[in-house]
Formats: sequence, C-alpha cells, structure tokens
Amino acid sequence: MTPSGFDVRPTAHPTAPQIRDTILESPGFGQYFSDHMAHVRWTESAGWHGKEVRPYGPLTLDPAAAVLHYAQEIFEGIKAYRHADGSVWTFRPEKNAERFRRSARRLALPELDDETFIGSLKALLEQDSDWVPTPAHEGEESSLYLRPFMIASESFLGVRPSKEVDYYVIASPAAAYFKGGVAPVSIWLSSHYKRAAPGGTGFAKCGGNYAASLAAQKEAASHDCSQVAFLDAIENKWIEELGGMNLFFVYKDGRIVTPRLTDTILEGVTRGSILEMAAEEGLTPEERAISIDEWREGAASGEITEVFACGTAAVITPVGELVTEDGSIRLAGDNGNPIAKRLRSQLLDLQYGRREDTRGWMT
Ligand code: PMP
Repeated sequence: MTPSGFDVRPTAHPTAPQIRDTILESPGFGQYFSDHMAHVRWTESAGWHGKEVRPYGPLTLDPAAAVLHYAQEIFEGIKAYRHADGSVWTFRPEKNAERFRRSARRLALPELDDETFIGSLKALLEQDSDWVPTPAHEGEESSLYLRPFMIASESFLGVRPSKEVDYYVIASPAAAYFKGGVAPVSIWLSSHYKRAAPGGTGFAKCGGNYAASLAAQKEAASHDCSQVAFLDAIENKWIEELGGMNLFFVYKDGRIVTPRLTDTILEGVTRGSILEMAAEEGLTPEERAISIDEWREGAASGEITEVFACGTAAVITPVGELVTEDGSIRLAGDNGNPIAKRLRSQLLDLQYGRREDTRGWMT
C-alpha cells in the first residue's frame, strides 16, 4: 500500500533494464509505456473505490461499454521531470486535478477528488520511477508523460450518464514534442472546421474534441503544417487556440496577448503560468479577444513581433507562419523570437530544477 492508499500489484514481467534504457535514450512521444498503471473504480452505488497500481496491459471492456459508443471520456496530460539530484517532480499537478474535475462535470462523469488524482500520479511514479528519463544535457527535454483518463465503462446502450466509471493513469517516456526544438512551426488556419462552439465541450479535455479536430489536422498535414489554428464558430473571426496548444502574441510595446478564456477554449496550465510569469519578464499580459485581422495586420506592420504556441507537450514553440486558404501570414521581421525563447527557458529551468525559486509550482 502506498502512502496515498494505492494497493500495489507489481508486474511479474518487468521490462528488462537494458531494453528500458534503450527506449529512454530515444523515446519519441507516446509510443512506449511504463510497466504499471494506476486504477480507481467508481460505481453509482459505491462511489470511488479499489485504488490500485497494477501491471500495464489491455483493458477488458464489454463491447457495449458506453465510452465506445457515446465517447463519455476525459483525460489529462502532465509531465514528470528528473532533477539533477535524481529526484522526480511534477509541475502544478493541482491545476490538472482542478481541470479534470471541470471536464468531469461537463461530461457528466463523477468528479475525482484532487487528493486521489495527485495520489494516483505519485503512486505510479513511485512504482515506475526508473521510467523517468535523465536528461543527458541541459537542452534535452526528456520527461515521463503521464496520461490520466476516465471512461464510462457500464455496458448499456441507453444514452444517459454511465453508472460505472474507471479511472486510469498510464505513463509514457517522452522526448521533445516537436523534433525541431525551438525552430518555428507552420500552422494551418482551419476556415471550414470548428473545434468548439459556445455551450459545447471546448473548455473540457474530452476525447471528442480531439476526434473532431482530426479532419482539420489532416488538412494541415497536406499543407505541410504541424498544427491547426481554430477560429470561433459564430463569427469565424476570433482566434481561439490550436488543436492541442494555446496561443500568445507578443507586441512591440511589450504587451503579450492571449485569447481570453471562454467555454470554447481549454485553459492551459502553461498558458496560466506564462501569464503569471510575464510581469517579472517586463511584459504586460493581456487576456482579450484577438481577431484574425489583427494577427494579419499586426504581422504585416511589425506591431506583432512574435507569435508562439504553448502547452505541456511542446512547452513554448514559436509560430513561423500561419497558412490560410488566402495565403500565408508571416511576421514582417524575423527577430529570432527572443521572448518565446526566454519564457521557454524560464519554464524549463523551473521544471528541471535549475532555478532556486520554484514559486511553489513543483510537487
Ligand atoms: N489547448 C488544448 C486544446 C490542449 O489539448 C492543450 C494540451 N493540454 C492545451 C491547450 C495546453 O494545455 P496545457 O498547458 O495544460 O498542457
């Protein structure tokens, strides 16, 4: 039993250390998984129970399980970092716990309390700590990506909230998300597809949002773009976010602007952290609506000096160009993205324990 109350059932077939080390040298993203997973079950009659860490492996699901038909599912994404002294840390896990509860409410799933959420991460990390990569040097951003998720597991084809739910955490060693590091990426502007609409599920981290973004992602790939930028569903005018990242715009006068939160935007932990760090970097943070015209005109006039995307997976990545059906939007000058780079190294220094002052953000 772990301190957080998880029963541990270790695998009889752990990955051989040699094989694990080979994987950790070049893990890619989301391809390999550690030896165990955390699990907690919920039923309408018994509530949350049966906290366990058990061997990683396929789930047994009835073909009528609600999640397979109606996508009643939510997830989270958070990384564990190894510091130079060997210790393992997560970044603001209470923010993910809070967002997971918000997502649960929207998807009519039971809320998991923050203590169990964070306890499940700790329990899995204690069991699979050898799977947290040790960065070989300062520029190497390897980590163990944790993926908590909750599914409706009741076998019942009626459309109503499931009375049986399972929560799991799996872990996957990760290298940098974009192979190019801080090299600017090209983004495709989806003018046809929408990611989210008012009253919908855009602010929740549910699988359905990502399923709905894949056709646009395919379109992006066919234009050699790695991500999609979405506009609002009503006026087709306001910038929302990327398929898996939030957006920031840096202005010549030191303002740093990100679309304000609505129920169509996912509240990123990285986004919130950048807003909190901005002032000490001499920047003026602003959360407000920003239109595609403002992006186009600001880029052309030089008023906007940098655009960058941010999220747990890619940290901070400069956006080099926005490809649209009416041509490409590029910044007038290429200044080398100094603000994106500075914020990025501030965040990474904090996450990898290279900064004294962690702002209480590391657990
Ligand atoms: N927007 C979307 C749609 C995302 O999937 C993510 C990744 N979770 C983000 C923004 C960034 O959020 P975070 O900084 O918490 O990773």
